[in-house]
Amino acid sequence: MTEPTIFEISSPGRTGVKFQASDVPQFDVPKEFLREQLPMPEVSEIDVIRHFTRLSQLNYCIDTGFYPLGSCTMKFNPRINEVTARLAGFGKVHPLQPVETVQGSLALMYDLQNWLGEISGFSGVTLQPAAGAHGEYVGVMIIRAYHKDRKDSKRTKMIIPDSAHGTNPASSAMSGFDVVAVATDNNGNVDLDSLRAVCDDTVAGLMLTNPNTLGLFEQNVIEVVKIVHEAGGLVYGDGANLNALLGVVRPGDLGIDLMHFNLHKTFSTPHGGGGPGSGPVGVAAHLVDFLPCPIVGILEEGSEDYPPLYGFVEPAKSIGRIKAFFGHFGMMVRAYTYISMYGKEGLKNIAEGSVLNANYLMTLLKDTYKLAYDRLCMHEFVLEGHWPDAPEVHALDIAKRLMDYNFHPPTNYFPLIVPEALMIEPTETESKQTLDLFADAMLKIAEEAKTQPELLKSAPHNTPIGRLDEVKAAKDLVLCCWIPEKNS
Ligand SMILES: *Cc1c(COP(=O)(O)O)cnc(C)c1O
Repeated sequence: MTEPTIFEISSPGRTGVKFQASDVPQFDVPKEFLREQLPMPEVSEIDVIRHFTRLSQLNYCIDTGFYPLGSCTMKFNPRINEVTARLAGFGKVHPLQPVETVQGSLALMYDLQNWLGEISGFSGVTLQPAAGAHGEYVGVMIIRAYHKDRKDSKRTKMIIPDSAHGTNPASSAMSGFDVVAVATDNNGNVDLDSLRAVCDDTVAGLMLTNPNTLGLFEQNVIEVVKIVHEAGGLVYGDGANLNALLGVVRPGDLGIDLMHFNLHKTFSTPHGGGGPGSGPVGVAAHLVDFLPCPIVGILEEGSEDYPPLYGFVEPAKSIGRIKAFFGHFGMMVRAYTYISMYGKEGLKNIAEGSVLNANYLMTLLKDTYKLAYDRLCMHEFVLEGHWPDAPEVHALDIAKRLMDYNFHPPTNYFPLIVPEALMIEPTETESKQTLDLFADAMLKIAEEAKTQPELLKSAPHNTPIGRLDEVKAAKDLVLCCWIPEKNS
């Protein structure tokens, strides 16, 4: 039997709070502001608490279970991040305060700019972008400003490998560039012949997701950068998934000109539910002047006795402001905490752990699920969720069935270059035991696909709602399924 909802137990006159008689003079609110009726359920406080607590428990989250959503890096968000983000000196500052009163916050931003630059090999960093895709947009605007500054006006093309993240072509198109796709070769790298064929003096740049969406390190990266540079273009690195490279490879050292980070993936700030995120952008020396304004700088050098005076500075050829105030500061405090907690060696351990976990899981699964490109993977890998001897079962059915085993499904049907894709990213924060349990479930499901396909086709079986029209659910969101009866 399902428990009655808050709406069903509503009883006229029942209430959570009883106000005392008012001891201040009454004020007549203008009639047009008053409602005749306010049809809300009438319930006690405990009913409300139970209602919302129950709703919150319907959410699957990283704090309740394994969440191998490829490309999203659903790693554990350390609680210490939440403690520091809530320190009054950080949590209660206002962006309009005079800079002398927020020196600690500015020092944190200044250090974070430098740390991100150091981690990735870039000379300048802006913390303003609100998310990864926003960072890409900023990067593409910087590429445009760079060419414009050189009076090089023919460059209208942005090259995007077909293994790139979907936001790359979207950011380029939104910024008015013509998107030109290049193919992937048999090893999962950018196809160099196909790249050479489109490189000419109309190329503004190339956006490279590395590791790419197949979870593979771009083995030709040096050559790719060289080809684009020789054509006069810039190379944008999509660094949303820097997890596998931390402390091991610096994109700036590979010749990449600029790149965004996702603090809400690699640097453990929470994500999901629509934000807030944070997508700082790092640039090489020749692009520092184009960074959005303002960035945090030192206005007066410090001494042994005095700390420096931090403030805002404006790069000489800045593309301008791209965000209200200075970005999502709370995310910066969390990322700062995370980086300082791990330190240099620790960051490298993160990368090694994420690559080890992904390869361990891939090895357990690749004899049962077809592996699109069979080589050492980085932080994630892509399987095909389809078998010739279970023709009616598709990746979607496997994803839904995983929910019956209490796992969040992996990303599916992305990347587009793998049919029936299941994109799995375990992250470094999971134990071997969890990975083993997940692999067991995946292997059982593969068995079921051949013996009881109906079980998969009708999954999930334990959730309050089974299969829904996912496009309609996203585009036409119904947040309240209760419609009050008229005059009740
Ligand atoms: C997540 C992701 C993005 C976009 O980041 P958002 O913060 O969601 O806008 C871009 N590129 C890659 C490779 C990603 O994984």
